Amino acid sequence: MTTVSWVEGSADGGFGVENLPYGIFSRPRELPRVGVAIGDRVLDLAELSAAGLVEDRRYFASGSLNAFMVAGRPAWQANRDRLTDLLTDESYRDRVEPHLIPVADVELLRPFEVADYVDFYSSEHHATNTGRIFRPHDEPLRPNWKRLPVGYHGRAGTVYPSGTPIIRPSGQRRTPGDPEPSYGPSLRLDFEAEVGFVAGVPSSAGRGVPAGAFRDHVFGFVLVNDWSARDLQAWESQPLGPFLGKSFATSISSWVVPVAALEPARVSPPVQDPAPLPYLRCDEPWGLDLYLEVLINGQVATRPQFASMYWTPPQQLAHATVNGAPLRTGDLFASGTVSGPERDQRGCMLELSWNGREPLELADGTERTFLEDGDTVTIRAQAPGASGSRITLGEVTGTVHPAQP
Ligand code: CA
Repeated sequence: MTTVSWVEGSADGGFGVENLPYGIFSRPRELPRVGVAIGDRVLDLAELSAAGLVEDRRYFASGSLNAFMVAGRPAWQANRDRLTDLLTDESYRDRVEPHLIPVADVELLRPFEVADYVDFYSSEHHATNTGRIFRPHDEPLRPNWKRLPVGYHGRAGTVYPSGTPIIRPSGQRRTPGDPEPSYGPSLRLDFEAEVGFVAGVPSSAGRGVPAGAFRDHVFGFVLVNDWSARDLQAWESQPLGPFLGKSFATSISSWVVPVAALEPARVSPPVQDPAPLPYLRCDEPWGLDLYLEVLINGQVATRPQFASMYWTPPQQLAHATVNGAPLRTGDLFASGTVSGPERDQRGCMLELSWNGREPLELADGTERTFLEDGDTVTIRAQAPGASGSRITLGEVTGTVHPAQP
């Protein structure tokens, strides 16, 4: 049975009633508050709550989703069911319609306060390509890669909302052949197309979150661009991993898609061989059939597919907490660069241009090895939704600005 919203045109753009993602928006002279996307409108949940149409105003008259994210799965589901009723039952239309605002009239802000930020490395194609590029004479995958989801702790304070300008970072590099390191603006600025999930319900110290408890803790998914300065990264990363080559900026999409909206997108992940240790086993298939698209200045550069990711979100969460580190509301976990097996499915310029050796030609005839000042990178994604629909994860976009003098 197809459920149709009375909001005109809402079934067309991926923001139909099967999606209902949450975000934070503001209008001039008004405080930021919680909204839900429907069609090309934002439903003002603070106003809807003040009007008595949804419960718990304290969740929604807020400049971040954190208060609602901590409320937990029963509250998330109850609100989702209520919004579905309000937006599909014509009898509510007169009372709900005054609280719909054209999305073009609002500013979308960072949807949640990021507590900690973890970035994984879970695409076998990406990890293999990176290994081939940097260590051509070795096995491309390190011995630990198929035993655990490799990751690192990133910088929460520089996770920015979509649209934030990205200032080209400066730093130290030493390219092969240079006798001495030098300092200056990065010459190899890159994007990484990723998908992240955000924790709502915290966990206690000393106890991990088992893979089977993923839904009880995780609020939803966002798109992530893990901006990366490859020249800085290559020089500084040995032996402790990424540092300043990554920490200058990470962008996330404006809308947080609830886990419930992505249930129809679940597929079996690739076969894991060798079988992971028991704490990493997951009884349910948690691959996600997400189709990503990366555009540079409006031209499609690549189409990575998330379904090929080797490690799944519940496995990543189980691994990140298995040492007893408690989960906090607002913890953001990004997948790692999403790359498929084909060249036109690679998720960053490092792979697309094979570290600058094979320039990528865009539809307008221009070529790129890495990003240039003025380039706008947009990542968007869609997925199968309930009732045969398509839902969108919206987009995360950013424009590269010149390094500060
Ligand atoms: Ca990354």
